[in-house]
Amino acid sequence: MTLDDAIRLKTELLIKGLTFSDEALKTVGQGGLEKVFWVFEMTPSTHKGTGDGTRPLPNDMLLPYDLYADVRYSPGSPFKVHKSGDAVILMKDNKEICEVRWPKRPDFYDKKTRSGESMKKVASMRGDCGLRVCFDNACNYFASGEQCKFCNIVPARQRNRDHVVTRKEAEDIYDVVKEAVIDNPVCSHLAMTAGAAKDDGLGNLPQILERLKPLLKEKNFPIVTAVTATRNIEETEYLCSTGISSVAFNLEIWDEKIFNEICPGKTRRVGRERWIQSLKEARDLLKPARALSSFVVGLEPKESVLGGIDYLSSEGIWPIMSPFVPMVGTDYEGKEAPDTDWIWDVHEKATEIIHRNLPDAFCDEIWDGDIGICPSCTTTKLFFDFMRRIVPRDNPKRIMSNESVEAFV
Ligand code: SF4
Repeated sequence: MTLDDAIRLKTELLIKGLTFSDEALKTVGQGGLEKVFWVFEMTPSTHKGTGDGTRPLPNDMLLPYDLYADVRYSPGSPFKVHKSGDAVILMKDNKEICEVRWPKRPDFYDKKTRSGESMKKVASMRGDCGLRVCFDNACNYFASGEQCKFCNIVPARQRNRDHVVTRKEAEDIYDVVKEAVIDNPVCSHLAMTAGAAKDDGLGNLPQILERLKPLLKEKNFPIVTAVTATRNIEETEYLCSTGISSVAFNLEIWDEKIFNEICPGKTRRVGRERWIQSLKEARDLLKPARALSSFVVGLEPKESVLGGIDYLSSEGIWPIMSPFVPMVGTDYEGKEAPDTDWIWDVHEKATEIIHRNLPDAFCDEIWDGDIGICPSCTTTKLFFDFMRRIVPRDNPKRIMSNESVEAFV
């Protein structure tokens, strides 16, 4: 299998999902890292037993070339994972393709914070190194029916009651970060996100960032905050002065008319113009290529999304991408997913544009995780995989967690 074959396989798995044999599922949750729906339920179908934790799916899957792929259950998929002897094997149309592995379950998943909260319900781990916190699994846009049409943050939280605490206390987040990044380090960077806050501002993020400051002094670790765009420059200045490495104000859709239709809350409460302005403000305050905006690709024409990628990257803002998935509980549940070739073409062209306009995005520091995510933990996205087609590299080496990825069986 070539690198391109492995990236294509990951692309197909993200779009088409997969199923499991019962034997293969038994390898999860003991030594293999089980799935936590920490923000969205990124699957086209619900999986019985995942919501209440009785029969968990694996979180991520390690493919050849050390590519990490998000595991997405989809009963109609041609992909299936089964157990053969000591190995866990991925099949397509009942033909074996390759052996796969699960990242190892971190010890903090069985620990509690000082307040007695389960650490796993406060923060979860992605891939080999990424700590993820959704500090508020609610979004104000749902209350007024203005939610983004592809999003299921609220229904995912309601269905998967055992997975997370809805609103996390700063003190609990402090405890998990201290445990997972400093005291018993298995994670090397932190990504924090939340739905839109009630006042359209930063919600309880400032309180959390203030609480994390002593930890950042003890040991520097990159933090990205993926939140709605700021209301004004003062808010951007505050956010960028807290010690975070990068921000992601995710515009999701570039075409103005389609953005208005798909993201009514973002349109009415913030507006596209202010959204782009806040990205420019963050760009001016952070190191190069540390102001990011994610796009859901597959919901607007190719020319439109590539036009947005060209514009933003030429402005020093890094557009990143996720293939659209018609997730359960969204307005778009049951909608057709984009074609693998289409997704491939958009990613290939987008990466070339970014390499030309914003070469800083390809620097070593970012590859190693300085934007709060890296090739070993962006399991739901493909952009790092396409970047390594332009600048060949291995995954970052994890000195602190060199045993964290290993076959469980
Ligand atoms: S702003 Fe949109 S994408 Fe973000 S949580 Fe709310 S509805 Fe979902």
